[in-house]
Amino acid sequence: MTSDSVIPVRLFESAAQAGLAPPPPGPQASYWAGGLLASAVFFASIVAHEVAHALMAVRRGIAVPRIRLFVFGGVAEISQEPRAAGEEFAIAIVGPLTSAAIGGLFLALAQALPPATVPRVTAQWLGEINLYLAAFNLLPGFPLDGGRVLRAVVWGITQNVHTATRVASMSGAGFGILLILFGVVQFFAIRTIGVQAIWAVFIGWFLWSAARSAMREGDLRRRLSSMVVRDVTRAFTQAPFPHDAVAADVESSISAENAPPVWPVADAGGDVYAMVATRDIAAVPPFLRETTRVGDISRAIDPADVLEPDTSLDGVLEDAQRRHRGYYVVNAGGRVAGWVFVGDLLRAGRPRRAGRQEA
Ligand SMILES: [Zn+2]
Repeated sequence: MTSDSVIPVRLFESAAQAGLAPPPPGPQASYWAGGLLASAVFFASIVAHEVAHALMAVRRGIAVPRIRLFVFGGVAEISQEPRAAGEEFAIAIVGPLTSAAIGGLFLALAQALPPATVPRVTAQWLGEINLYLAAFNLLPGFPLDGGRVLRAVVWGITQNVHTATRVASMSGAGFGILLILFGVVQFFAIRTIGVQAIWAVFIGWFLWSAARSAMREGDLRRRLSSMVVRDVTRAFTQAPFPHDAVAADVESSISAENAPPVWPVADAGGDVYAMVATRDIAAVPPFLRETTRVGDISRAIDPADVLEPDTSLDGVLEDAQRRHRGYYVVNAGGRVAGWVFVGDLLRAGRPRRAGRQEA
């Protein structure tokens, strides 16, 4: 999950609609300068909001590979789910707090500037829009920051992260629908397709779909949390030996329709000790396939890719997403007992047909 910040609908109000004093008479160029400066500073304010999320995550030991800005706002992509309700709360709340602080500073600045001037109106607008950004993103519905705060609170009270995810994402979907309705009603009320109405519908749709996918992801994790590695372990059907040539049977088995991405390599005693990637076998030129041995292109098993049979599957899914893994091998008393494909994991976590009770 990510923590998103969404630009509020009010961004598109004119100064008069927003209740601001009309800009004072002055040279045309000063309006343009004020408008451009306001856009640049508003953009920087959103970046500051995201950086605040990112810094708090890093402080808590969670890497943040990138901050993305997109048409609806911005998002700090954190590399893993927070591990505790308090951590979730801290990472989520710091963004709106930063926006509120920036808003307060600009309002104070506006008070200090001479009245009825372009700089004052610009500072006033920046102050209000940042406060509005803070307030809007505190609405308690995922994927807004307030949704994460709500998730942290429910998580803290119930001690059940799955219930918390469900409550926060259902609330987010509800806010999405409300915003869509708001846009539609506004359209019928004022009989024009205003930018604000369109923006409300777009943001509503964005929130609704993000909340829906969070709900699905949450359901998947909840089901996987009641299953362990052993439930989805597959036995090895075939393990080539290191001295086998990359030819004939090895080659034909890799070209099969549903060939796995890797093959286990067994030592003389039959114990799996390495893996060979189908991609690497395919990369061997045909005239070298008789003389190239499987052992020449096999790779040692990464200890991080070895799972214990009793490990819960929701942790495995998170690791696979973070480290971009497609498979794992399963340890059984120091021997590699079989493997787990992430595709199997996703299938196992899918909703079952109605009428069947899940654990
Ligand atoms: Zn945020």
